[in-house]
Amino acid sequence: MVGERVNLLGLPRAQLEAFVAQRLGAKPFRARQLMKWIYRRGAADFSAMSDLAQDFRAQLREVAEITVPQIVTEQVSSDGTRKWMLRMDEVQGIETVYIPEPDRGTLCISSQVGCAMDCTFCATAQQGFNRNLSVAEIVGQVWLAQRELTETRAGGARAITNIVFMGMGEPLANYRNVVPAMRIFMDDLGYDLSRRRVTLSTSGLVPQIYKLAEECNVALAVSLHAPNDELRNELVPINRKHPIAELLPACWHYIDQQNGRSVTFEYVMLDGVNDKPEHARQLARLMQGRPAKLNLIPFNVFPGTRYRRSPAAVIARFRDILNDHGVIATTRKTRGDDIEAACGQLAGKVTDRTLVRLGAKLHSTPRTAVET
Ligand code: SAH
Repeated sequence: MVGERVNLLGLPRAQLEAFVAQRLGAKPFRARQLMKWIYRRGAADFSAMSDLAQDFRAQLREVAEITVPQIVTEQVSSDGTRKWMLRMDEVQGIETVYIPEPDRGTLCISSQVGCAMDCTFCATAQQGFNRNLSVAEIVGQVWLAQRELTETRAGGARAITNIVFMGMGEPLANYRNVVPAMRIFMDDLGYDLSRRRVTLSTSGLVPQIYKLAEECNVALAVSLHAPNDELRNELVPINRKHPIAELLPACWHYIDQQNGRSVTFEYVMLDGVNDKPEHARQLARLMQGRPAKLNLIPFNVFPGTRYRRSPAAVIARFRDILNDHGVIATTRKTRGDDIEAACGQLAGKVTDRTLVRLGAKLHSTPRTAVET
């Protein structure tokens, strides 16, 4: 067979059907069988797919593969949060975080190696932008997490009930690969999650929010972080291109297109910067009567940051002002900060030094490649 093998991981159903038809002369139901094996049963080896004919499996091995990223380290927080660092190349890695709660399990995934948005309070920004992740690398994070969780706990197949694009990178800047990945998350032969359980979080790429409203109806979270342009220009520089007066109408349009549901606005609480009562009142004016929820995130420190976390009492007061104005606001519980897995702490450098340091801190052993 000439040419490279096609990685089946991350191929949306229609493309997989076309692939089995064109390359293997097989019927569409073969594609459906393959999807069940790959996503439901976590298979990465065609030989294990026992309900496929021997010949078909042999053919598959020649033209296709199921390749997932390589786990470099796994860390487990005292609160049960897990963080995996996945190797993308010699120096760069990305991080994926699993956050268990009594009623759900949320997987926080990355969409890029690094990030170009340059938000001043985010650790990922410090490493700059390296590249977009492919669909296989995005879906591969879920595949790996599911495998790891299945190995370590009973009923692991249901361990992941929610997926959020709140890891490294700006998902709407990698629209081309993020949307097909989300389709697999929601496909009933994929991870079979309802659209409300898949959340895309963006720093506010307005044109792509409009595009997404037409094409994919997942839950939307927007990193607002400031109630006026002056402050938001400083904290979230993309605001200079797409100011609040453009961003919010895009959000309301998104909700209109989808019949209800609200946008979650993320607001990181930075001591003395954006946490004053006046800011809460400004914010309330922007949100009143709108399909909006505010999620206040206590700032998570990282090496080299100039910011500090707002005191708990200040956060509570801020939340109360919003609630008093009829705006729903909640405070996000900080999870996994002892392993630098909390919001904004993902940096993903796979330098030798990092490997040694992480290796020393590990609660469990580093994993090696999952080759197929
Ligand atoms: N690029 C996307 C998704 C990644 S970040 C976005 O901007 O929405 C997920 C959330 O964590 C965002 O709201 C982000 O602003 C927030 N965040 C970043 N750094 C943080 C930090 N140090 N402490 C708390 N939250 C942070």
